[in-house]
This record gives sequence, C-alpha cells and structure tokens, in this order.
Amino acid sequence: MSARLLDGTAVGAAIRQELAPRVASFAARAGRPPGLGIVLVGTHPPSEIYVRNKLKSAAEIGCRAELFRLPETASLDDALDAVQRLNRDDAFDGILVQDPLPSGMGGGASQAVFDTIDPAKDVDGFTPVNAGRLSQGRAILAPCTPSGVIALLKREAIAMAGAHAVVIGRSDIVGKPMALLLLKEHATVTICHSRTRDLAALTRQADILVAAVGRTAFVTSEHVKPGATVVDVGINRVSDGGEVARLFPETSSRRADFAKRGSLVVGDVHPAVADVAGAMTPVPGGVGPLTIALLLTNTVAAAEARAGWSASR
Ligand code: NAP
Repeated sequence: MSARLLDGTAVGAAIRQELAPRVASFAARAGRPPGLGIVLVGTHPPSEIYVRNKLKSAAEIGCRAELFRLPETASLDDALDAVQRLNRDDAFDGILVQDPLPSGMGGGASQAVFDTIDPAKDVDGFTPVNAGRLSQGRAILAPCTPSGVIALLKREAIAMAGAHAVVIGRSDIVGKPMALLLLKEHATVTICHSRTRDLAALTRQADILVAAVGRTAFVTSEHVKPGATVVDVGINRVSDGGEVARLFPETSSRRADFAKRGSLVVGDVHPAVADVAGAMTPVPGGVGPLTIALLLTNTVAAAEARAGWSASR
C-alpha cells in the first residue's frame, strides 16, 4: 500500500473536541445548551445505529440531544407535525429527520418533510433555502457529509484551489453539494453520474476523486491517476465471503474482521486503489466520522446564528 491514509476518525475527534468550548460558551451566554432534535420514524436497523451515535456524540460535547420517535405506521402528517413542533420549540436549534422514512409514507415524503424544517434549524442543509445559499457560496448550514470531506481535505493539507476535482454521484445529499463546496474552494469540478460516457477517462484526470456512488468497490485502479487523492464516501455492507475474498488479500485484517462478524462495511473504492492513489480515505474510519462531527458543527453554528451571534465558520 502506498497511499497516505486520510484519518477521518482523528480529524472528526479533533473537530468535536474543538466544539466543546464553543458549546460551553454558548450555554453560559444563552443560559441553555445548543439543542438538537432528531425525528426517527419506524425501526430501520441502520438508522437506529446512526441516530444513537448522533445523540451520544452531541451529548458528549455538551449539547442537549433528544430523540422523537414515531411508529412505522405514522402518516406523513404525523411526521410533518413532529417537525412543526420542533420548529416552534426554542430549546431546539437543530432538527434532523433521519432518512429513510418508511416506504408506506409514499414517494416524495422525505422531500416534503425536509421542506418543512425551518431553514435556520436545518442542520442537514437539505432545505431549498440552504441548498440555494450553498449554490451562491454563502451557506451557513451545508450538508454534513460533503462539508466533512472539505474539512478533512483542509486539515490534511490537500490543495483544492486549481485542482481538478471529479465527483462521481449527483445526489442532493452528497454529490451535488460536494461539487459546490469544492467549487467554493476554487477547484475545477466535473460531476459524473450513471449516464456519463467513458467515466474512467474523466476520473483519470482527477487530482481529487470523490466517489459517492453506493456500489461496492466500484472505483478501481483504472479510474485513478497515480498520486491522486481519493475520497470514498460509500458505505456498503458486504456479507458474501467470496466477495470479501476478491476484495481483500488473505493477509488483510479485514478478512479476520469478516470471519468474526460475518459482514463488512466496504466503500465505493476498491482497496487496491491504495497502490495507485497518493492519499485515500479508509472505510470505515474515513468520511463517516466526519459526517457526525459536521452535524455537531452545524448544530452549534445554528444555535449561534439563531441567537444573533456571528457564525464562526
Ligand atoms: P444515491 O442517491 O444513490 O446516488 C448515487 C449516485 O451515483 C447517483 O447520482 C448515480 O447516478 C451515481 N451512479 C450510480 N451508478 C453509477 C455508475 N455506474 N456510474 C456513474 N455514476 C453512477 O446515493 P447517495 O445518497 O449520494 O450516497 C452515495 C454513497 O454514499 C452510498 O454508499 C451511501 O451509503 C454513502 N453515504 C455515506 C455517508 C457517510 O456518512 N459516509 C453519508 C451519505 C451517504 P444517477 O444520478 O444518474 O442515478
């Protein structure tokens, strides 16, 4: 392996640690801690884990973090009511509705719920107001995962200005905001998606390649320019032993992890890309921990902005 590993766990911990005094000074000035309300509908097992981690991390830095549960059978109106209550409650500066919502709520439910969140409390940065501010380069609350990628690249001293950044994926939560944030950092940005022709010819031009595809080990060495920085946003669970054997050499500790747990979390980037890339995020331990760190950053920024104090990022 030649690529330098970009350690999201360490950078995420540093960001969380730096937030703690900001939280304490907000609490001292406002007479209450910054508040984060999370709405969880139904019983989607991965969501339970994500929400538990978010609540725990928020509490650790001194925020008030509360979970509002709705049953799997809840209607779209129930979810909208839960959001409206949090919009009105001054103790909460940040509102997060955990995606996905139950399929019974119908297509478009997530967007309808996100659209109802008060933009000042929209710590996921998914409302049209915050998406618009982001496109104008003046976001206070930008989506957490791509913001985390920018924080990681900055702290790891990866130069973005003038670099050619290629983003694979154009979702509203990762790909599009990722491209806009890279543009704000003065990168030259190319966005690729499922209809892109000759993907590898484009990705091989990238100084910074971001994979947000949702397909296990999709990006292989043939997609990567030697020495490029590769950011792997993907989270894919692999439970097939044959696939694990194809992805990881016999000596890899990931094989032992798989033998112990029966499944592995693998990114969108093939592990062998580490032989070609100059720097690379691991999965797990890369982008994931930064998503939570930036959620907390957004919660504190929302609290400060709602109190009329200037946002400090
Ligand atoms: P998504 O909404 O499914 O978007 C996937 C994107 O990949 C789409 O734009 C799609 O193109 C593109 N794509 C699919 N197949 C492709 C192909 N063959 N060639 C080129 N592009 C292709 O997924 P997402 O929500 O953005 O998430 C992406 C990944 O990041 C997932 O693995 C997700 O679990 C992970 N994720 C991680 C975090 C974290 O904290 N680390 C947070 C959020 C998401 P089209 O638009 O043309 O369909």
